[in-house]
Amino acid sequence: MQIGFIGLGNMGSAMVRNLLKAGHDVAVWNRSPDKAQALVAEGAKNVATPAEAAQGAVVHTMLADDKAVEAVTFGVDGILSGPGTAIHVSHSTISLALAERLAQGHADHGSTLLSAPVFGRPAAAEAAKLFIAAAGPAAALVTCQPLFDAIGQKTFAIGDYAPAANLVKLCGNFTILSVIETLAEAMTLAEKGGVPKAKLLEVLTGTLFGAPVYHTYGNILVDEAFRPAGFAAPLGLKDMNLVSEAATDARVPMPVLAILRDHLLSTIAREGDDIDWSGIGRIIAADAGL
Ligand code: NAP
Repeated sequence: MQIGFIGLGNMGSAMVRNLLKAGHDVAVWNRSPDKAQALVAEGAKNVATPAEAAQGAVVHTMLADDKAVEAVTFGVDGILSGPGTAIHVSHSTISLALAERLAQGHADHGSTLLSAPVFGRPAAAEAAKLFIAAAGPAAALVTCQPLFDAIGQKTFAIGDYAPAANLVKLCGNFTILSVIETLAEAMTLAEKGGVPKAKLLEVLTGTLFGAPVYHTYGNILVDEAFRPAGFAAPLGLKDMNLVSEAATDARVPMPVLAILRDHLLSTIAREGDDIDWSGIGRIIAADAGL
């Protein structure tokens, strides 16, 4: 399929590689053009504007935040400035309000939005093992299924209301960070009591907590492998702020969210922007005097 891909960060670059491997023709655009070079060597075509990337059947975006997605969609030379592509697949973790605006903007333009945020870190993206939560018109989902199969291991159809997929993603990231928080607290308690973190993790994952999220983040916490960041703490903070926005609008108290947000803020303040969001483990340990 002739497609475009906008946003070649930690996640986007890996996803493009798998789309190329699956035989798709991929036109790429990134704000910092240097990131496109390695992909051109692997068969991608570098184009000059987001509008040019949006001339195929489908254009994917995998960008940092609302501001970035707004710029490449509604901005000068943005996706909606040209005759346009048929389907915009939006993978970024963004607000429900922006997903709504994107869906409306595409409807006005005669094109389609498919919200398709993903679960999985850059290593999962490299291995084409992402999980995709997709929402939007059913026909668009059918068209895009081969593309999702190229980047992921499973697609969940959430329904025809695009922002619903973004809501699922926000709920998922809230749950992941809650797991990191409780794991880090438990490891800190174990360590102060003389039990190595690795031993606690072996017992947890070998008994009742065998899910991938405990393995992935448990090992990161044990090894303190917080740099280079697979998912940078400022992106995690952005997501917790989006959860807070959604929870406020829906009148849902989420008391744990305030703790997670504060720990992320504290981590960024003390460690800088380049630490993984699981770096909250360092703050939790430090608060206990470790
Ligand atoms: P990243 O490595 O920081 O890449 C961000 C991308 O957004 C880069 O291509 C960057 O361009 C671009 N960008 C940022 N601001 C922009 C702007 N104003 N205009 C145009 N482009 C802009 O982030 P990532 O880890 O790939 O994450 C991308 C999205 O996926 C985020 O929404 C994140 O929450 C979500 N996500 C991440 C993970 C993960 O584990 N990393 C997992 C699931 C979902 P430059 O190269 O020019 O900076």
